[in-house]
Amino acid sequence: MNTEDGNQAFPSVYIRVHRWFLLHVMPKPRQNELEAYLDEALPPDEMARIEHALRRHPECVEQLAAINARRDAGIHTLGEIWRRHRLSCPTRGELGSYLLGALPDEMADYVAFHVGALGCRWCQASLNDLRQKEAESPEAVETRRRKYFQSSAGYL
Ligand SMILES: [Zn+2]
Repeated sequence: MNTEDGNQAFPSVYIRVHRWFLLHVMPKPRQNELEAYLDEALPPDEMARIEHALRRHPECVEQLAAINARRDAGIHTLGEIWRRHRLSCPTRGELGSYLLGALPDEMADYVAFHVGALGCRWCQASLNDLRQKEAESPEAVETRRRKYFQSSAGYL
């Protein structure tokens, strides 16, 4: 009896907070998220988040239907093609070279597309991590210092 009451009290509070969150905070999924959702190409918590968002935003269900209709017509976005062919994430070395501007144009375009248009979270995180590491490395500090002195020398 008591445990039953306890079990009821917590979920009702939780559900109210959750509903508030869905109503006021839950952002509409973006087009590329909906496409990935249809492909079941998102991590489980992202799949769940989009499922909730779909319940909250009926217009997004129409958007999903439109994506399906377009796919039936044989039209696919780059993101869909990318997932279909399961092109892998760039390696960490490639991402590092990308930051240094040392990749061939074609590969650099692919990384930009992968991280930007597709919004690959893993690679975005890797890039942020690499940027941070680069900013902290003694070589980077030394390079910056040299550039600083060179540029200030020009003004003196
Ligand atoms: Zn990636």
